[in-house]
Amino acid sequence: MTQTPTWLIANWKMNGDAPRVRSWAFAVNAALGAHSAHVKVVFCPPAVYITDAMAALPPNAQLALGAQNCHAASKGAHTGELSASMLLDAGCDYVILGHSERRAAGETDDQVHAKALTAMAAGLMPVICVGESLAEYEQKRTNAVLNAQLSLLEDLPRGGYLIAYEPIWAIGSGRTPSMTEINAAHSHIKSVLGSETAVLYGGSVNAANAGEILAQSQVAGALIGGASLEIESMCAMITSASTRGK
Ligand code: PEP
Repeated sequence: MTQTPTWLIANWKMNGDAPRVRSWAFAVNAALGAHSAHVKVVFCPPAVYITDAMAALPPNAQLALGAQNCHAASKGAHTGELSASMLLDAGCDYVILGHSERRAAGETDDQVHAKALTAMAAGLMPVICVGESLAEYEQKRTNAVLNAQLSLLEDLPRGGYLIAYEPIWAIGSGRTPSMTEINAAHSHIKSVLGSETAVLYGGSVNAANAGEILAQSQVAGALIGGASLEIESMCAMITSASTRGK
């Protein structure tokens, strides 16, 4: 069994409501119980529900909380934004940065890098998303795209962040790369950022394929969107993660 935990990061995006957040947090934390030595689950609901998730958890809960974004500035005139320290105050330990849905809305590598620095300074662990588009994949440019996205991250303190390799074409599509391709991309990321970097896979992970994906030697965990919304499938993925046997 692995000495390092297998990460499962549940990204709810703009889904859910307060009752669902509370019941999910309570149930998944309870299911995590016996597996918590081997599996680390991070729940990232919409930011307005982070305090609902906190309120649903018992003292000494194993379920960790995360946000889906933060601002690069620590405070100021940024209407509608949230700072890393505010997220920490609300109960978060993690923040997803550079998700492809945010990059598609204009977020740049420079902004992701600045946000990561601010988040780490505040005490949050960033989960930094990288990955290629379908056209780039078909043109066999995955490593070149990763190189560009990773180059600014090389100065970040090693071990202070997680990377999520998320091919854009795999997100929400039901398609995944082959296991060989996943291992190759993760190995490439480690060759750039250091072999100790924890690299998670994201893109259409679900209860049916989590076991195989999490068993890959280069995969430290998964970032899960749609399939994380249901308690039952999340619990099935926790079971897969706890038995991956590395
Ligand atoms: C994601 O939101 O990052 C994601 C991987 O979504 P899905 O699991 O639905 O593909």
